[in-house]
Amino acid sequence: MSDILDLAWRANAACVGEPTAMFFHDVLSLRAGSTFARERALQHQPVRDALNLCALCPVRTDCLNTAMNAEHGNAAAGRHGIWGGLLPHERAQLANARPPISHGTDAGWHQHRRRSVPFCEPCKAAKRDSEHSWKHRREVNKNQPEQEQTA
Ligand code: SF4
Ligand SMILES: [Zn+2]
Repeated sequence: MSDILDLAWRANAACVGEPTAMFFHDVLSLRAGSTFARERALQHQPVRDALNLCALCPVRTDCLNTAMNAEHGNAAAGRHGIWGGLLPHERAQLANARPPISHGTDAGWHQHRRRSVPFCEPCKAAKRDSEHSWKHRREVNKNQPEQEQTA
């Protein structure tokens, strides 16, 4: 995993102290046709236990985002273990379903934030611009004389 990401969330993970093998069970690396991979994985008690922990985990989103960022560009075969309650092929499907970040826009800045992807310079600049023009509009509105009320 990348060291530029903040992994402080791990302290609150529901899987702290649990055996890592639960989350990296051999069955997860079988390239089962993705339609049945979850059903097949659920036949194994350690996998069921791991997914039950994920379902209750308070940092599930952080965990999933960390894996999605670290595995960016990988197909299912390049993804390993359970992260954020998802199996490797499910994260590959999610990656395909997510639209790419619209870099250089205010919307892109929010996509960075929601996905915990470090901000790029064009998105930081777009965010500064949009805040600047928002403040400017607020100042202009403040300085405008009150509209006269008409009956
Ligand atoms: S979502 Fe699952 S794998 Fe991720 S930290 Fe929580 S319990 Fe662990
Ligand atoms: Zn960006």
